[in-house]
Amino acid sequence: MKAAPFEHVACQTTAQALALLNPDEDLAGAVLPCSGTQSLGPMLNLRLAQPARLVDVSRIEALRGFALQAGALHIGAAITHARIEDGELPDVTGGLLRSVAGGIAYRAVRNRGTVGGSLANADPAGDWVSVMVLLDAQVVIQGPRGERTMAAPAFLAGAYTTALQAGELLTGVRVPRFGAGARWAYRKMCRKPGELADAIAAIWLDPARGVARAVLGAPDAMPHAVAGEAAVQALRSPAAVAQVLAGLGITDPVNVQWHQAMVRRAWLDIDRIPS
Ligand SMILES: Cc1cc2nc3c(=O)[nH]c(=O)nc-3n(C[C@H](O)[C@H](O)[C@H](O)COP(=O)(O)OP(=O)(O)OC[C@H]3O[C@@H](n4cnc5c(N)ncnc54)[C@H](O)[C@@H]3O)c2cc1C
Repeated sequence: MKAAPFEHVACQTTAQALALLNPDEDLAGAVLPCSGTQSLGPMLNLRLAQPARLVDVSRIEALRGFALQAGALHIGAAITHARIEDGELPDVTGGLLRSVAGGIAYRAVRNRGTVGGSLANADPAGDWVSVMVLLDAQVVIQGPRGERTMAAPAFLAGAYTTALQAGELLTGVRVPRFGAGARWAYRKMCRKPGELADAIAAIWLDPARGVARAVLGAPDAMPHAVAGEAAVQALRSPAAVAQVLAGLGITDPVNVQWHQAMVRRAWLDIDRIPS
């Protein structure tokens, strides 16, 4: 099947995109932003989405940029996975971002898919979704009423659901700079290489920042963050992992075992790094 006809506007500025997302004419509900189209493209071709207009933000310079800010790295929404994989951005997370980017799908997807598109898509199995929850990153949103920021766990309201309101754009995300001696691990299980994960486990221990966080991610529920040294260390026990998963409604024994295996491997990675 082919996509239904639509107008495609390649925007040059955020202001232009915001104006097109808030049309004067009666297109309400029929205008969608797009960036890499790696998730939206199939939806269009299956006619699950039939917008009258696509507002393409992938060429907006302000969204393709990055900046070091006090204690954080601002990543423009239109930055592709490939640019992070290639080390174009400053490494403020001790290699975590670069490593995760290189593990997303395969290079053709990474060349086009963007951080902003992944977060706006809010696929529970998406890698940036789990990573930004792990990092408690700040999502930057622009809309008709100006700019606002939200912590990623609040922004990612549910599967394929975000706090974005009609007419708003995700313009970037701010990730914290890791302290000296920080350790991290990111493990995911995919039944087939290049596919979205069946189970994700991530750990970030950063004594200099006073941070201990872990995330359990899966297709069945939004990534669940565990915070605090004691609670994170407790996840060394497979029974504790099962208990957290049960709280999320994940009790299928195979699914639980996948997660337990990912958490165990994440701890093995962490314990190999000198503290
Ligand atoms: C074969 C395949 C394998 C994949 N494997 C993985 C994987 O292993 N891990 C992983 O994490 N992902 C995976 N993906 C998804 C990929 O990472 C996509 O890049 C990502 O999901 C969407 O990013 P995009 O830039 O293509 O967004 P698009 O497809 O253009 O848009 C996705 C959604 O976000 C909205 N949107 C886009 N940009 C914005 C914005 N700036 N503001 C507000 N809304 C916006 C769109 O309206 C749409 O609803 C895979 C995709 C494919 C096709």
